[in-house]
Amino acid sequence: MNLEKLVRKNIWTLKPYSSARDEFKGEAEVYLDANESPFNTGLNRYPDPYQWKVKEQLSEVKNVPLKNILLGNGSDEVIDLLFRTFCNPEVDNVIICPPTYGMYEVSANINDVPVKKVNLSNDYQLNISEILNAIDDKTKLIFICSPNNPTANSINKNDVITIIEKFKGIVVVDEAYIDFSSEKSFTEYLSKYPNLVVMQTLSKAWGLAAIRLGILFAHEEIISIMNKVKPPYNVNELTQNAALEALANIQQKEKWVKDVLMERKNMEQLFTELSCVEHIYPSDANFILVKVTDAKGIYNYLVKQKIIVRDRSSVALCDNCLRITVGLKSENEKLFNALKSYSKK
Ligand SMILES: *Cc1c(COP(=O)(O)O)cnc(C)c1O
Repeated sequence: MNLEKLVRKNIWTLKPYSSARDEFKGEAEVYLDANESPFNTGLNRYPDPYQWKVKEQLSEVKNVPLKNILLGNGSDEVIDLLFRTFCNPEVDNVIICPPTYGMYEVSANINDVPVKKVNLSNDYQLNISEILNAIDDKTKLIFICSPNNPTANSINKNDVITIIEKFKGIVVVDEAYIDFSSEKSFTEYLSKYPNLVVMQTLSKAWGLAAIRLGILFAHEEIISIMNKVKPPYNVNELTQNAALEALANIQQKEKWVKDVLMERKNMEQLFTELSCVEHIYPSDANFILVKVTDAKGIYNYLVKQKIIVRDRSSVALCDNCLRITVGLKSENEKLFNALKSYSKK
């Protein structure tokens, strides 16, 4: 990997902002260097710009060295940082594989970066040869979401590895749903492939969507360059504290995951009884994609019963499909009963 060729020139040569916390790192008695309020509100000091405590815990939980971790204000910020680090607006391009997570394209549009789309195959796997054909010398990033949103399946590991090995740019594997998956994380390949970037989040399995904490794992050179681009205090103190608390209690997360997986199985079983459900796609995540007889009609029917699912029927390869998050048992039962009464209409 030739990182200097991949990173935007203005970013490669950027002299980053140097915060008060960058210029003095040790412990002191009197801090008069950051124009903070001296009055203790519990939040009067700027947070750690590199979130070392959170990263230390993440490093243990995820088995990834500290130097390979960057944190963002949600995965949304991490995705934006990737564009701003690697893609020259109007010049460079990225490849995405619809149907997939909508933020890749929106973030590309915000950054004025052209998007090449190579749809997944009918079984929601990568079209390897089409992806390789779509690559040109301005292609900087390829986004692969696994387990994929909204299709719920994992992408074949060997296909992802083929892309990583054949592409000279950065392959981003978005693992927002990895905790629910029967597949292993790609983080184990970070030391083998310097052009691999893995994204995770505390928004799903950890139950902390509100704190906005996105995680990026990558080669340390990529991390140092992205550290120059990120806003100095991009992860606030409240978020860092909540993350520390959650990461200290893996058992809770594991219990929740176990419950969701059991409920997912229940729902899949129950849905086979419904005449309005034509197909239940296999799920490796905390949601299920189902093909129904009339996605719009059913969506509206459910809204009237105050039940909201996601109508995905307008996206590629998802004709008449609803994406349904696995909820509490009581919530899933309400949904099932509503679908049963719809089927009887
Ligand atoms: C939910 C989700 C995320 C998480 O985004 P945050 O900004 O961290 O909440 C990332 N990627 C995919 C594919 C998702 O579905």
